[in-house]
Amino acid sequence: MTRRVMFGICALALIGVAVTLTAQQRRGAARADDRSLTVEEYTPRSTLVVPEHPVPRAKFPVVDIHSHHRPGLSGERWSTIVREMDELNLQVLVNLSGGHGATLARGVRAIGESPHPDRMVVFANLDFSSGVTPGFGARAAAQLERDVAAGAVGLKVFKNFGLTVRDGQGQRVPVDHPELDPVWHMCARLDIPVLIHTGEPSEFSQPVDRYNERWLELIVRPGRRLPSDRYPSFEAIMAERDRVFARHPETRFIAAHMGWHANDLGRLGALLDRFPNVVVETGAILYDLGRQPLAARAFFDAYADRVLFGKDSYAADEFPYYWRTFETRDEYFDYYRRYHAFWKLYGLGLSDDVLRKLYYENALRVVPRIPRGAFPTF
Ligand SMILES: [Zn+2]
Repeated sequence: MTRRVMFGICALALIGVAVTLTAQQRRGAARADDRSLTVEEYTPRSTLVVPEHPVPRAKFPVVDIHSHHRPGLSGERWSTIVREMDELNLQVLVNLSGGHGATLARGVRAIGESPHPDRMVVFANLDFSSGVTPGFGARAAAQLERDVAAGAVGLKVFKNFGLTVRDGQGQRVPVDHPELDPVWHMCARLDIPVLIHTGEPSEFSQPVDRYNERWLELIVRPGRRLPSDRYPSFEAIMAERDRVFARHPETRFIAAHMGWHANDLGRLGALLDRFPNVVVETGAILYDLGRQPLAARAFFDAYADRVLFGKDSYAADEFPYYWRTFETRDEYFDYYRRYHAFWKLYGLGLSDDVLRKLYYENALRVVPRIPRGAFPTF
């Protein structure tokens, strides 16, 4: 390349930068005093000055009952995760994405043969790939029995069951379809819990308009919308789930995401009163607890034995938001995912007794096969 051509390219690049800057400056100037700001652009600095108590490490060892990792996790990636867990005081991750059959067995073996065999347990999943046809329940129950023999410690049912799983005729299969009964019975017989994720936050079924509390999320992630012409209503699917809880009192259920009632703790308390076989976990609903610290603390005190810690997506830098919300009484601090919540969080300041139950005691009771050597005796 000649020097002249080089100079030409550099000059063009410089002009490009200059043009970009001018355009940005022009937009910035226009923004300063006009009303065209979008909700995504509006990110005011808080001027509130109050004591802050970040909590990088949980006060007690933690079981994360709601984690997702590829089956067969091993090697450097797994060692990195264990190092992060040590810093966070996460003792055990429950991998809900265990799969079934050979995949599940391979995943259990990978952890068992790693240098950290006690730091992850695996839940099995049902194989809905061929739909729910007659005999599905008996076949799935038999597979689950084999998966537990191979090392699974629980069953996770994903939200596709109740929303998109079909029967032989192409009809949606309701959560309380009797074809699944052998599966729920098998869980009771094997003494393993079912972590069941049913439906989505109620706003996902509502019109995406200015009144929708999850408007931003539904704009950024339009695939999460559940329009009423294609999906059952929030109340319909909750009722299906509750009928399963009622019909199988011998089976232990963990309702994921606090059953999507974290925004209505009175309703959640009534559900727990009605179904002694049900507990809940806190995955991906921190924004609802942190906006009602007084009601949430009262709830955790009243239902201390019924709530398990869960986070959902594994991201080491996000756990401290949970520790801070549960352990401190800090005020008006940021949450990590803007499209979940445009508001700030407040700490619940849970007592040590409640924290121990939330962080590990309840999980060890509900999932008896979690290795318990590293937890304080109680
Ligand atoms: Zn999940």
